[in-house]
Amino acid sequence: MSKYDIVIIGSGLGGMECAYILAKEGYKVCLLEKNRQLGGNLQIFVRDKVIFDTGVHYIGGLDEGQNLYRFFSYLGLMDKLKLRRMDESGFDRVTFDNDPMEYPHAMGYERFYETLAAIFPNEREGLKLYCDKLQEACDSFPIYRVRDAVFNEDDLSYLNIGAKSFIETCVQDPKLRNVLAGTNALYAGYADRTPLYVHALVVNTYIESAWKCVDGGAQIARLLAKGIKDHGGEIYNYCEVSKIEMGSEGATAVLTTDGRRFEGKQFISNIHPVQTLDMIEEGFVRKSFRKRIAGLDNSISIFTVHIVFKPDTFEYLNYNYYHSKNSDAWAAIHYTEKNWPENYIVFVPASSKSGKYADSMNVMSYMRYEEVEKWAHTLNVIPHRQASRGADYQEFKQIKAEKLLTELEKKFPGIRDKIQSYHVSTPLSYRDYIGTSDGSMYGIAKDYNNPMMSLLSPRTQIPNLFLTGQNLNMHGMLGVTVGAIMTCSRFLGLKYIMQQISKH
Ligand SMILES: Cc1cc2nc3c(=O)[nH]c(=O)nc-3n(C[C@H](O)[C@H](O)[C@H](O)COP(=O)(O)OP(=O)(O)OC[C@H]3O[C@@H](n4cnc5c(N)ncnc54)[C@H](O)[C@@H]3O)c2cc1C
Repeated sequence: MSKYDIVIIGSGLGGMECAYILAKEGYKVCLLEKNRQLGGNLQIFVRDKVIFDTGVHYIGGLDEGQNLYRFFSYLGLMDKLKLRRMDESGFDRVTFDNDPMEYPHAMGYERFYETLAAIFPNEREGLKLYCDKLQEACDSFPIYRVRDAVFNEDDLSYLNIGAKSFIETCVQDPKLRNVLAGTNALYAGYADRTPLYVHALVVNTYIESAWKCVDGGAQIARLLAKGIKDHGGEIYNYCEVSKIEMGSEGATAVLTTDGRRFEGKQFISNIHPVQTLDMIEEGFVRKSFRKRIAGLDNSISIFTVHIVFKPDTFEYLNYNYYHSKNSDAWAAIHYTEKNWPENYIVFVPASSKSGKYADSMNVMSYMRYEEVEKWAHTLNVIPHRQASRGADYQEFKQIKAEKLLTELEKKFPGIRDKIQSYHVSTPLSYRDYIGTSDGSMYGIAKDYNNPMMSLLSPRTQIPNLFLTGQNLNMHGMLGVTVGAIMTCSRFLGLKYIMQQISKH
């Protein structure tokens, strides 16, 4: 097999974006994906003729001139994506048990501020401070703001502030504090760990503008795949990398589970850093580095009920719900088996087929991997698809799904009667379809108590092996895209890439 300039392991958004950028710049690129479907968390599945997303439900920053709009334009996506702008008066609505009020997160800073200030009139000043500081925190990440400066690692001022304490310094009303923290499932937030910058970068992008992909997020992967091939890149699915072969100068090739070998000059791994290091023999990476990476905590996983509605029964919602049973929005992540589910998130997909009524709904709640660990020996991913993980697993899924639906029914009385069928995914589904060890939603969790520890650079100790994807700096469509730009800047120079992006 011929030698590639760049071999990329994993076709998540980060891997595909790197492949596109580098192929476009004339590198001979090869992208290797273990699954049949490309895209990692962009993968979709179909039940009862309805498309379900697995890991992208809405996207921010896509208004003309905004950051992801410019990145996606550079990636050749923007004019081809089928998108629906979400409800400007409240794209996210935060709710709590024993409180009939829906607290909207409105689109655009002015509207966001005015909407919440109307509900919490005594907090006008605090809300203003919150909005200003949120944007200021984003400003300290130049690439996020489409500037060609590198993030100054010496400037820790925003890295070691906690999201919760930041919110508390801005506003005093306990309810408002929880409304601002209410969407923390977007970053699997912990009160005592999650940094302000994670909250700011994620929340800011949706306040700027929030969009749903019509008929699923897999369109992003399809368009990138076409772009990669149009620029001469090669893509192989059903191609699981099991080993990175090493020589005296660094990596030389990757080997796949079915015995294929792909030789390259440079390598990019889009998979979790722990799995990446596991593919390299002892002796090539310092033990202390392996230990550091292995010691980092992953974010929690998720349990989802994917509902297919009977035709014309449930009206389409152009917004999401983030519900917390507890008045403390940070509490749900510490659920116990007995009180699960402590939270739920409702996403209603945008379909080109339906108008007034929705085809489907995704209802999610946090779930730790340990709950499904007893079925860890099973594997259920195409092409290694088992008929089932066993009757006891089916029973587990059903009990949990019914519990989640019982909570949902409090919000939407009578919803069960509108359900045609429902389908469930658990942390094991994410483990198998993404290839992580524990089905973590967003990869390595960030911690403001030790910020540099969980912020990874694209560089590894192997001179020609680089990282990309959500484990680098940030998860999400925007975070991963910024990460891909950082990874590609190692080949092309940041100034050059940012010049290309600034044309859009
Ligand atoms: C439930 C959920 C909801 C989310 N919702 C949103 C949202 O609404 N908006 C948003 O912006 N973000 C959302 N995210 C986050 C976002 O989807 C991810 O941050 C992003 O897609 C991760 O991209 P990645 O580049 O890290 O690759 P990943 O998606 O992690 O993909 C990695 C790829 O590598 C492949 N791979 C693994 N091992 C191997 C191997 N050995 N050989 C070859 N290939 C391999 C995998 O099969 C996979 O295709 C959500 C995530 C989850 C889990």
